[in-house]
Amino acid sequence: MIQFSQISHQYLNGHLVHALEKINLTIQSGQFIALIGPSGCGKSTLLRLAANLIQPTQGQIQIHGESPQQAVLNKRIAWMAQQPALLPWLSVQKNIELALKFQKKPSSIQKQTEQALQAVRLTEAAHQFPNTLSGGMQQRLALARLLVQDADIWLMDEPFAALDELTRENLTIELYNLWSSYQPTVLWVTHNIYEAVKLSDRILVFSPPPGRIVGDININLSQPRQENSPEFQKLLNQLRNILHQDQELHQ
Ligand code: ADP
Ligand code: MG
Repeated sequence: MIQFSQISHQYLNGHLVHALEKINLTIQSGQFIALIGPSGCGKSTLLRLAANLIQPTQGQIQIHGESPQQAVLNKRIAWMAQQPALLPWLSVQKNIELALKFQKKPSSIQKQTEQALQAVRLTEAAHQFPNTLSGGMQQRLALARLLVQDADIWLMDEPFAALDELTRENLTIELYNLWSSYQPTVLWVTHNIYEAVKLSDRILVFSPPPGRIVGDININLSQPRQENSPEFQKLLNQLRNILHQDQELHQ
C-alpha cells in the first residue's frame, strides 16, 4: 500500500511554484493506476516524491509502512520515463546486466537477463547496440531493465509518449500484459484517456496547477474491455467532463 497524506509540494526556482496541493491518496498494492491531467499539474512531481528523488514541502508518504527513502533502499521501486536513458556503448544484453550488477547472486544474472529479454521480445537483439534499435525497441529494453530490478512498484512517467501512435498503443498493451504476469503496483502517467479507461483499475485526474485530485474513478469492467460498450463510453465522457470543467474554471 502507498499512502500520500496531506502532500503539498512547492519548487523554489527564483520564485515559488506550487506543484501539488494537499494530496491525500491511498493506493492498494497490485493495482494498475493511471494519472491524467493537464501538463504542469504535478504528475511527475508525485512520482518523484514516491521515488525519493525529491522530498515533499509538506505531508508524509508511506510505502508499505516505510519512508520513500527506505523503500528505494529496499529496492521496492523502479522508474521508467519517456527517455530510456540507455548506455550507448553497451549492448542490449549488457544494458540489462548493468541493472543487475549489485545482485547478490551473480550466477543468476544471465538467467534473469535472458528471461527479461524474452519477456519484451528482444532476445534476437541481445548483441545490438541501443542506437541500432527503433524507439519502440529502446523502450522495450527500458522495460526489460525495469523487470530485472524485481521491484514491486513501477513508476511510469509517460513511458511511451515520444513514440508514434501505433507503437505506443502496442507497447502500452505489452506493459499491461507484463503487469498481469508480474503483479506490481503501477503508477502510470498518460495523456491518453482512452488507454487509461481500457487498461487501468483506477484513474486519478489532476486539476490544473497547483495539482489537486479532482477525479478518482475505479474501473470495475472486466478485461478485455469493449470500447463500444455503453459503460466504456460513459467512463470516457465522465473523464472528459472532469478535465474540461476544471480547465474552464481556470481560464
Ligand atoms: P506534470 O508532470 O504534471 O506536467 P510537473 O510535476 O513536472 O507536472 O510540474 C509541476 C509544476 O512544477 C510545473 O509548474 C513545473 O513547471 C514545476 N516544476 C517541475 N519541476 C521543477 C523544478 N525542478 N524547479 C522548478 N519548478 C519545477
Ligand atoms: Mg510530467
